Amino acid sequence: MSTRPTLHAVEAGVSYLKDVEQLRISFNSGRTRSLEWRKAQLMALKRMLVENQHDVLMALKADLGKCETESMVAEQGYLLSDIDHTLKHLSKWMRPRPVSTPLVAWPGKSFQQPEPLGTVLIIGAWNYPLQLLLAPYIAALAAGNCAILKPSELAEETSHLIARLIPNYMDTKCVAVIEGGKEETTALLACRWDHIFYTGGEAVGKIVMSAAAKHLTPVTLELGGKSPCIVDKNTNLTVTARRLVWGKWMNAGQTCIAPDYVLIESGFEHQFIDAIKKELTTQYGKKPLTSKDYGNIINHRHLARLKSYLEGTNKVYGGDVDETRPAMSPTLVLAPTSDAKVMQEEIFGPILPIVTVSNINEAIQFINARPKPLALYAFSDDDSVLDNIIAQTSSGSVCTNDTMLFMTNPELPFGGVGNSGMGSYHGRAGFDTFSHIKTVMKRAFAFDVPFRYAPFSKLKLWL
Ligand code: NAD
Repeated sequence: MSTRPTLHAVEAGVSYLKDVEQLRISFNSGRTRSLEWRKAQLMALKRMLVENQHDVLMALKADLGKCETESMVAEQGYLLSDIDHTLKHLSKWMRPRPVSTPLVAWPGKSFQQPEPLGTVLIIGAWNYPLQLLLAPYIAALAAGNCAILKPSELAEETSHLIARLIPNYMDTKCVAVIEGGKEETTALLACRWDHIFYTGGEAVGKIVMSAAAKHLTPVTLELGGKSPCIVDKNTNLTVTARRLVWGKWMNAGQTCIAPDYVLIESGFEHQFIDAIKKELTTQYGKKPLTSKDYGNIINHRHLARLKSYLEGTNKVYGGDVDETRPAMSPTLVLAPTSDAKVMQEEIFGPILPIVTVSNINEAIQFINARPKPLALYAFSDDDSVLDNIIAQTSSGSVCTNDTMLFMTNPELPFGGVGNSGMGSYHGRAGFDTFSHIKTVMKRAFAFDVPFRYAPFSKLKLWL
């Protein structure tokens, strides 16, 4: 069931009530509860991705100029391994989770029983338009929910492809794709949901949360922000530069967990810049804007936003623009002031500001004076420096001596803290997010100790 609303219906703000109601009826019929249904749906989703791999890669190329290898690793391949991991562990995740029972409740047993939430809304972002919509869907399916998927309108080709494929493979009584932007999302948010899972910027996150509050609907907000990267003087500079370039310029920097800016001890910055330049040339060549491995900027509005971040800054490398792709080459900005736009807003593009500090403690203070980031990176050969950074800062995730790789471990929940979001997913964390972990105590009739019942005067005889 793929629905394109009429403008009139959207204005009326009621266009999706029927869609949601249909899913609710399916959910209430118990259709989604069995392990068999969930596994069959996950297998169907896997088939959908495998059989349409070419179309998926082409859509991602059209939307973001993503090269096939990057799409295979970060979108298609990521989802396939997520499905495999989920299929492998699902029956274990669904089992009751026993806990001990206190003496007063003997004989009896206590456990936590995961149960599906019901009908959920998943709103995706445009930067990894397939992964960020379908990874939460995998978790929602695994947990036995019905779902409406709202892809990002900015990644238009991927959105259309998902809307076309889902009804051909999945149980259409239990899922619908609704395409559109602000108006459609607003209409969707007016409906009552059992959970809303939103990936995107902070401003819309607030809109989602206040809409959810009207129905007391729980939300997961996967937001963004400025993810810092501390580089200690005492580091393996070659590997540091290689991994930083990989994490920063994949998808042309349009990654929520890309290192946003670098904090480095002053005196070391020029050596660091040389190493980054060398590595950029190795990975993307002397003319990155002609490299087929280098991605586009999603649209001209975002390119203009990125260009405005460079105004009045000390650009020491890159800054070239191709208006037709559209794209911006890898760009380094040295020592921006704290009030510069490039240090005030999430960059979400190929610009890397390099901020100098007098020591690592100052870098920690710099981070702690700002909103809690989604990810934090630190490079050092000295483990005590890394442990100190981990202990003294707060962020959704930390990864030391690498960037972004923590995402590949399904055992690690992924999510933000403070302004970078709330709730988490990936692996069992995703299953739990889309489940209610119900408390159950099962008692037997034996040993019905009378003292807990009134009249309590009986108790006095014993005291
Ligand atoms: P966005 O907030 O503009 O859009 C996200 C979704 O919200 C889209 O589906 C869009 O249709 C919808 N939307 C837009 N405006 C709306 C409105 N006024 N009312 C209701 N719905 C609306 O975000 P974006 O530009 O797509 O994504 C960029 C941000 O997302 C960055 O901050 C980035 O860090 C963050 N992000 C976070 C993660 C994560 O996993 N934590 C992943 C990707 C992106």
